[in-house]
Amino acid sequence: MGKIKVERRCVFCRKVRSVTDLIRTARVSEETVLDRKGKVQGRGAYICKDRKCIEGAKKTRGLERSLKCRVGEDIYIDMLKEFADETR
Ligand SMILES: [Zn+2]
Repeated sequence: MGKIKVERRCVFCRKVRSVTDLIRTARVSEETVLDRKGKVQGRGAYICKDRKCIEGAKKTRGLERSLKCRVGEDIYIDMLKEFADETR
């Protein structure tokens, strides 16, 4: 069946991959949220489900720059807890 493969770019490593391999974050009224189901409206930014990319993006503030919005410490903590070891 013609299932469309949606791809996005990781804000840290810049690799383009399927959204199923990425975590979506979104900006909702000046706050960054984790969009676990990919349904949150608004500006989004993607990051690999990979500890290297999550920690790297925290350091380089890639998410902040992409979303033009502050990203709380809790977002990184949740991403690491939920997704750090999911890829490979
Ligand atoms: Zn990445």
